[in-house]
Amino acid sequence: MTELPFWKTKSLEEMDQREWESICDGCGLCCLNKLEDWETGDVVFTSVRCRLMDGTSCRCTDYENRQATVPECIQLTPSAVDEIVWLPPTCGYRLLREGHDLYWWHPLVSGDPETVHQAGISARGHETVSETDVPVEDFEEYVVDWPWKVGEAANGPPAGDAGPERSDTDLPDPARTVTG
Ligand code: SF4
Ligand code: SF4
Repeated sequence: MTELPFWKTKSLEEMDQREWESICDGCGLCCLNKLEDWETGDVVFTSVRCRLMDGTSCRCTDYENRQATVPECIQLTPSAVDEIVWLPPTCGYRLLREGHDLYWWHPLVSGDPETVHQAGISARGHETVSETDVPVEDFEEYVVDWPWKVGEAANGPPAGDAGPERSDTDLPDPARTVTG
């Protein structure tokens, strides 16, 4: 009998640090600036990326020291997952918290960190602009809805299989567990 992977047997609270970090699929969507309607609490995404986010790779360019440059970069915790209303529907933490499984493109499922980008649900491949190039008062002009969409990617990989399934003893290096 095949042993179930850790994300199917453990709650977010029960995961160790390495397991927790690996739930982030590296989509980069939380590194986009959001706008909140102060009256309704509604949140919209913009295509204005954090100053430390590389627009091509979608990775944080100074993850270890990010707080020095971007003190508002939030460290995700299980309780923060419950409180943050804008985690995208594809976010691994949100999916697990809501009782869903990870999608096929998640690196833990596919064994390949590129599948999240091949699925088209990450920030990579979308036109973004650095917050250093846009005045805050102009962020409204950059509102986008694609971070909220899963689309046809949910149906499976575009061609063939997505690679071998990983066990919890073969986790990738920590990616990011932060929100911006
Ligand atoms: S924390 Fe969630 S939304 Fe942010 S990069 Fe990781 S998987 Fe994507
Ligand atoms: S991890 Fe934080 S500091 Fe780094 S790009 Fe994302 S929001 Fe910015």
